[in-house]
Amino acid sequence: MTASVPDPHTPAAPATDDQTRHPSRSGPLDTAQDQLRSAVRLLGYDEGMHAMLATPRRELHVAVPLRRDDGSVQVLAGYRVQHNISRGPGKGGLRYAPGVDIDEVRALAMWMTWKCAVVDLPYGGAKGGVAIDPRGYSTAELERVTRRYTSELMPVIGPERDIMAPDIGTTEQTMSWVMDTYSVNTGFTTPGVVTGKPLAVGGSLGRATATSRGVVHAAEAALADAGTGLPEVTCAVQGFGKVGSHAARFLADGGARVVAVSDENGGVYAADGLDLAALQRHVAETSSVQGFPQADPIGNDELLGLDVDVLVPAAVENVLDADSARRVKARWVVEGANGPTTSEGDRVLAERGITVVPDILANAGGVVVSYFEWVQANQAYWWSEVEIAEKLAQRMRTAYQAVATRARADGITLRDAALVIGVSRVAEAHQLRGLYP
Ligand code: NAD
Repeated sequence: MTASVPDPHTPAAPATDDQTRHPSRSGPLDTAQDQLRSAVRLLGYDEGMHAMLATPRRELHVAVPLRRDDGSVQVLAGYRVQHNISRGPGKGGLRYAPGVDIDEVRALAMWMTWKCAVVDLPYGGAKGGVAIDPRGYSTAELERVTRRYTSELMPVIGPERDIMAPDIGTTEQTMSWVMDTYSVNTGFTTPGVVTGKPLAVGGSLGRATATSRGVVHAAEAALADAGTGLPEVTCAVQGFGKVGSHAARFLADGGARVVAVSDENGGVYAADGLDLAALQRHVAETSSVQGFPQADPIGNDELLGLDVDVLVPAAVENVLDADSARRVKARWVVEGANGPTTSEGDRVLAERGITVVPDILANAGGVVVSYFEWVQANQAYWWSEVEIAEKLAQRMRTAYQAVATRARADGITLRDAALVIGVSRVAEAHQLRGLYP
């Protein structure tokens, strides 16, 4: 894997000139800045407020030296970006993926800020990443990477400062290591420093499937707005990881016909609907949906253009660009992933009358139950699964209705409406707190 040493002097994301006026329109940060620019325009904010909202409060670049099992040493690049902490501590996932870089982490941190505000959580937005492909490393190596990364972040994380959760390439086990490393260094067990941890160390019932449940609540709400429901629709889901696999299952449980799913190796298609339980067993045995005997193979690109009603991108950023957006046949795109649609892709989908339920709303179920987990951990008092499911459903429905109402009232897309709500809540916090000194 990479041996590059991160440059600790890389400057914070420039707030205005480069990134808010001249986006290169290539990466997730360009998409995120485009979206913010659109919200700022709709809200009529001045450049000073725009700069405040566009600029991460804090960024940490860390070197993560790793002794491999064979005795050799590698130095990995790690990042943590706290985009905003005006409404509360930073909150956001930790990603392990080979292509992670500071701009991707900045984009993901910014999206977390708006997402937490849209569902009205007392959090800011943050994100972390290590440039590593976890599949090439042993469990012991991943534990060493996680502990070293965490120890480098000690000064900026904590239940009142910045709270991590799993994302691509990280798991409950990763969160357990983060929690333990933090706790050993502070001298007492601190479950509130991470969410998405195992139940046995203070995790919450319902957290592992919360993002996917939220995606399905969002899909149901959007379908209901059009006078239909899950039993009437067909679905395709891109990505079969923590979000996509459970989302596919919950869509099917709700009566939808899930005809295609994919992972990074490719996808599978069955016109009559996939047997998701059998597929899950196949994935447990082979680590991929590919080769599932009860379905036909299908490419990831082909999946995006399938003739289905609902498309759920639940894998990575930038998969729906202008080109692939032109081929989408679905009437609804429900974004399980963060940033799956580029700015150009978004314009194409809007022009074509396709309803996009945006990431900062559609996949907010994960952070909502993360919040429940944090509240429970801080109080050392645990809620039942039913309570959590009800509170999650209520939060998602309330947030969806607020966004849909705003979209109708202002004649804007659900994405712009969600951004306007999220961004204005953060801006209000800025204004009320004032500028120090
Ligand atoms: P994961 O690592 O568990 O799964 C990712 C899945 O995407 C895997 O099936 C992988 O094979 C597949 N994939 C990777 N590259 C792909 C490609 N180019 N085409 C098709 N499939 C590809 O990650 P996850 O936690 O499920 O996260 C998926 C997305 O959801 C990410 O955008 C993440 O930021 C977002 N998200 C996750 C959570 C959460 O709670 N885990 C919460 C909110 C948003």
